[in-house]
This record gives sequence, structure tokens and C-alpha cells, in this order.
Amino acid sequence: MTQKQTLVSGIRPTGDLHLGNYIGAMKDIHRLQKEYEAYFFIVDLHALTTHPKPELIKPRTRDAVRSYLGAGLDPNQATIYAQSSLAAEISELHLYLSMVMHIGELLRCPTFKEKAKQHADHVSYGLVGYPVLMAADMFIHGAHKVPVGADQLVHIEIARDIARKFNSMYGEILTLPNGMVEKEARVPSLGGKGKMSKSLGAKTYISLQDSKETIENKVKRAYSDPTRTHLSDPGHPTVDGCNVYHLHSYFSNEEVRKDIEKRCSDANIGCVRCKQMLSESIIELTEPMQKRALAYSDIDVDDILREGAKKTQESAQVTIAKVRKAIGLIQL
Ligand code: ATP
Ligand code: MG
Repeated sequence: MTQKQTLVSGIRPTGDLHLGNYIGAMKDIHRLQKEYEAYFFIVDLHALTTHPKPELIKPRTRDAVRSYLGAGLDPNQATIYAQSSLAAEISELHLYLSMVMHIGELLRCPTFKEKAKQHADHVSYGLVGYPVLMAADMFIHGAHKVPVGADQLVHIEIARDIARKFNSMYGEILTLPNGMVEKEARVPSLGGKGKMSKSLGAKTYISLQDSKETIENKVKRAYSDPTRTHLSDPGHPTVDGCNVYHLHSYFSNEEVRKDIEKRCSDANIGCVRCKQMLSESIIELTEPMQKRALAYSDIDVDDILREGAKKTQESAQVTIAKVRKAIGLIQL
């Protein structure tokens, strides 16, 4: 029997999980947890780089677990844990990795520049090192695969770079991870500027927990084709031509998309109806997930995280012992 490859996937508890997180990191959970030795974790330590709110981290961590469970994650198939449960192990690994990583590359990283702009009042040392800690999250389990949205691919490249440098100094210790991105997934924000992001506020995204009414209201206000001012103007139902169509491309089936492409180009459907159709597609996706998520109490969620922590700590210790030996640290 061939051994399964390892997969690692994380989401920061910086707000409600949204449709972008679903497409970038959750959509294929059913399949992935069967095919891989899978670790799904809530990235609470990384949340401290931009969202250090003691009163919010715990409830958001539990909500994120619930959203994962709602999306079909099964604790009997995959390991689910909070990043902080491995704080000792990944902090140590992060320290070793920080010695091989060049600071210039981190400062030039586009995700760092973007976050530094968003949080200009407090650009921490931790924020600069974000990709290094993320590399530790992957190496601690020897991850082969990391499903991410397109925005995170640059971090996978950094992790591969670190692994190459580390291995050339100390031997073949770290596994080079591969990103898994489906068609450059980058769900746009409702306002049409940038991607949906938890930290940009609930008005810019649709949460996996939003009610039917909230989804309808948010979609009604979503930015659409700016060139279409009258019903009689033909629209531009393409990913680049209309933000609402871009969202349809992720959430509506082919039949709906084809119908919109035809009728919008012919000016036979207005934006109001097109948006209703988008709401219907989204609600069809989120409603069953919400029902499944609600079945788990805080106590259930904590039990799942405790069990996951136990499993990951054991294997993380093995990695750390290997790394210390390779580096040549004294063993007493
Ligand atoms: P934050 O604003 O706090 O950075 P976020 O919404 O970007 O939050 P993350 O926790 O950083 O979410 O990312 C979790 C996963 O979701 C990553 O794999 C990321 O690539 C993916 N992801 C985030 N936003 C999108 C999006 N709009 N489209 C596709 N994938 C996304
Ligand atoms: Mg992000």
C-alpha cells in the first residue's frame, strides 16, 4: 500500500470565514481528507500579527472550526487543531528557519506590503516574519500539498526557498511543499476592489454564516458593470467586465452562467434579476453548511481541538528532534 501524502491547510481567525475562504481553502475538503494525511488548523498565532484582540480570538477560533465542519471536514478523517497548540514546536522551528531566510526577500513580499499598508499604525516584526512562521506550519508535518488561494502562492514559494537553503546546509530534512490552486482562485470583494478579505470588514464579503436576507442585501449592493447604466445597454458578462458576473463564475452552475451571458449581452436581463440569481446560487451553497455547523456546541469544538492537539504534538516533536540533530545542537 502506498503511503498517503501529507496536506496542510490553515485559516486565520480574523473574522467570519467568507466565500473567498471557501473557494480558496475549503471547497475540496471532502476529497482532500480522504486522499491525504490531512491537517486543517486555525491559524490563531498568525492572527496576532494584525488582530491582537483577546476577547475575539477564542470565539473566532471556535467559529472557524464550526465553519470547517459545516463545509464537510470530518475529525475522524482529518486532524483539526489550533496553531497555538503547537506554539512551542513551530516557534522553535521558526527560529531556525529565520536564520536561513533573507530579510530583504520578506520586506519585498507583496503580501507583507499589502498588510503593512492596511495596518500602517503597527507594522510588527511578527508581520515581516509571517511567511517564515507559515513555512514552519508546513514543515512541522512534512507537508507535500497546501491548498491555498492565489494570494498565498507567494508564501509557498518562500517556504520552498527556505527548505532548499536549509537542506543544502543541513541535509535533506525539510519537505518542499507544493501549492494547490484551482484556476487562480481569487474571489473578488463585493465592492470590486481587491479580493474578499476577512480583515476588510463584513460589508466587503459574504460570510459563510450570513443569513438569507443578509446575503440578498449584500448582493443587491455589489458593484456591477459600470458601463451599464440603462436596461437597454448591453452588459459585459465576463470575469473582467462585471464584478457580479465574476462572482457568478465561482458560485453559479454552467446553466445559470450561460443564461446570463446570453441575456446580459443582449440586454434582455437587468442587474437586479442577475443579482437575485447570484443570491440564489450562494444561498444554495451556504444553507446546508450552516445547518451542519450549528450542530456543534463549543464543548464539541473544544473536544475536537483537544484531540487534534494531542495527535499533532506527538508528530511535531519527531520533526523537531530531527531538525535539532541536523543542525548539530548539543543533545544532553
Ligand atoms: P485576512 O484579511 O485576515 O488576511 P483572509 O480573508 O485573507 O483574511 P486568510 O485566513 O488569510 O483569509 O486565508 C485563508 C485561506 O483562504 C488562504 O488559503 C487564502 O488563500 C484563502 N483566501 C482568502 N481570501 C480569498 C479569496 N478572496 N479568494 C480565494 N481564496 C481566498
Ligand atoms: Mg489573508
